[in-house]
Amino acid sequence: MRTDTIAAIATGKNTSGISIIRISGSEAVSVADRIFVSKNQKHSLKSAASHTIHYGYIVKPNENGLGEKEQVLDEVLVSVMLAPNSYTTEDVVEINCHGGIVITNMILEQVLLAGARLAEPGEFTKRAFLNGRIDLSEAEAVMELIDAGSRAAAMNSEKMLSGSLSKIIEKLRESILFETAFIESALDDPEHFDLEGYPEKLSEKIKELLYEIEGLLQSAEDGELIKNGIRTVILGKPNVGKSTFLNLIAGAEKAIVTEIAGTTRDILSQSLSIRGIEFVFMDTAGIRNTEDVVEKIGVDKAKEAARDADLILYIADSVAGFDEEDEKILAPLSEKKVIVLMNKSDLTFGADEKNLEEIRKNYEVLSVSAKENTGIREFKDLVESMFFQNRLQSDDQIYLTNIRHKEALVDTKQALLHVLDSIDNGMTEDFYAIDLMDAYTSLGKILGKELGDDLVEEIFSKFCMGK
Ligand code: GDP
Repeated sequence: MRTDTIAAIATGKNTSGISIIRISGSEAVSVADRIFVSKNQKHSLKSAASHTIHYGYIVKPNENGLGEKEQVLDEVLVSVMLAPNSYTTEDVVEINCHGGIVITNMILEQVLLAGARLAEPGEFTKRAFLNGRIDLSEAEAVMELIDAGSRAAAMNSEKMLSGSLSKIIEKLRESILFETAFIESALDDPEHFDLEGYPEKLSEKIKELLYEIEGLLQSAEDGELIKNGIRTVILGKPNVGKSTFLNLIAGAEKAIVTEIAGTTRDILSQSLSIRGIEFVFMDTAGIRNTEDVVEKIGVDKAKEAARDADLILYIADSVAGFDEEDEKILAPLSEKKVIVLMNKSDLTFGADEKNLEEIRKNYEVLSVSAKENTGIREFKDLVESMFFQNRLQSDDQIYLTNIRHKEALVDTKQALLHVLDSIDNGMTEDFYAIDLMDAYTSLGKILGKELGDDLVEEIFSKFCMGK
């Protein structure tokens, strides 16, 4: 492992109040000391105690090092965190400078000239992993926490970061190892270990493990929605109030609205958070702008736009009612989660109840008024309950969000099913041990045990710079 001293800008690449340049490695303190002058010019960072902050200047040294005429670059606060109590477990120095892009880069340049090497993406976290402070799933959780697009995603990553998944995986591994050790001992020392009735017991045990693994695998479906957002397509005939409705909910959550480029030319997606869950609204501009949706775009177009959706928000006009055309657009989407919003309820003085009852047979239906802002709370209640069954707030539920973890669990499941097969087919115990060890190894991959260096490199290369 490389133990040289690395440095990078740890904060964002835009202008901000402050920026942080992080330095890690055995030379971190000396590197910083070469370009730092304390306010009173009295002390050097080399004598700094761990977890202390120092006020002073970052300077561009003269040819002879620090002296009288060095050029001051910025007024800074420098924190010193000594090994092993730091993010990487190495000596870490963080320079808090002013957050201009130019000044931050000038300071980084001095840090590199003073002896650090520019860190690779994810290299700080990689060191935390290689030095054993966190396991791989926790390192991956760091990245997911940074990338989290909603409160739900952030909270789920935080749980993983604090080891919730690791604990479950460790426990599964322990159980498997215990059984393997028992089998090995019994085979080595049949006099003291009796395998009579053991296959039945093992079979029960494995079913318990499989039950737990199945639960985790099932959480991956919701995990994907948490991580990537719930893809929601708004459909409906022109003028029913689709834009008004979208603007209304987007407006209420203005702080977290982000416009992202659509995947196809005529679909604009807008990501926003409802009750802490990210929804990616795909506004089918073509459908919205076309005067006669059913004829010009056709049912097929609507179907195409909605094919990948997790949720269809179908908006209809309460005054005109939900008619055959509406039904025609929705019919091919019956497999999807659909909410029908009967908009403009302010104009109907009580919606047409008969019409509503009819639609309720097939869909979730709500009366709303995008103009008067009514029915929105009910709408949020409904979407929240349609996904995650309101379990998002629960402390002990975690959702798998990482495909690598999912694959490792699928492999574990396969190996355990093999053991059950061997038991059912009356195979000898040494067969069980092989598959049990496979299951153990697959689980270990989640934690980053027994993973090849290449794979570790690849995982960390996806991190952002400075992390
Ligand atoms: P879109 O074509 O489906 O996107 O429809 P728009 O959002 O452009 O709305 C069409 C018209 O309906 C606009 O004049 C809106 O002001 C009006 N509108 C939208 N929602 C409501 C509502 O809840 N009540 C009333 N009375 N008018 C609405």
